[in-house]
Amino acid sequence: MNETVLYQHGTLALLVPGLLTGTLTMKKLLQHGDTGIGTGEGLDGELIILDGKPYQVNSRGEVNVVSDDFKLPFANSHFAAYRPLMTVENATQEELHDQVLGLTHDNNTFFSILVKGTFTDVKTRAVAKSERPFKSLAETAKNQSVFNRKEVAGTLLGYYSPQLFDGAAVGGYHDHFLADGHDFGGHLLEFGTVTGDVQVQTFSTLEQHLPTDNAEYRNHDFTKDDITGVIHQAE
Ligand SMILES: [Zn+2]
Repeated sequence: MNETVLYQHGTLALLVPGLLTGTLTMKKLLQHGDTGIGTGEGLDGELIILDGKPYQVNSRGEVNVVSDDFKLPFANSHFAAYRPLMTVENATQEELHDQVLGLTHDNNTFFSILVKGTFTDVKTRAVAKSERPFKSLAETAKNQSVFNRKEVAGTLLGYYSPQLFDGAAVGGYHDHFLADGHDFGGHLLEFGTVTGDVQVQTFSTLEQHLPTDNAEYRNHDFTKDDITGVIHQAE
């Protein structure tokens, strides 16, 4: 168990043309971390793993704990060893993101943020699971639900990736959210302000795992896909 390693299965790029087959089980993902984010086969909801427990927010807004055999086309995980960074009071999302970079100077490496507190005007989304034949990310992601909370206590789990890795991941922050009451969450689109504790964990190594057992992935020609354009629209 190495706390400086960020494990990634699949890439965001492979979701773009619709390679949405689940190619890793949750059981395997949890062997690489007790904390993480991801999505299920066919973009089946938004995953957030906290303290070794994998929660899924589905497109009906329900929060479920998924089983070991739940399959994912894309996910990140790592073993939590966060360090306290700061407390914030009524910080906007932009202030939070900027202050973390200002204090860590981690612009050019991967890191994770864990923010526990009270959030206002939170907007999340969860994509509805699609069935085969899978369509592109842009088409599939149209079928999503957006959820709002005026004020909610919860946890923001985010990963920051350097711009250089845009495509493999989302360059910049990719945040997921889970309410303390486990009744609200998903891929975090935006929030108004947050008051709470901010922790960070810096990674020196990205362990990039690819679905080389999957023929569709092996045979796909990525040269015609607008990878970064679509990712920034969808994510
Ligand atoms: Zn997400």
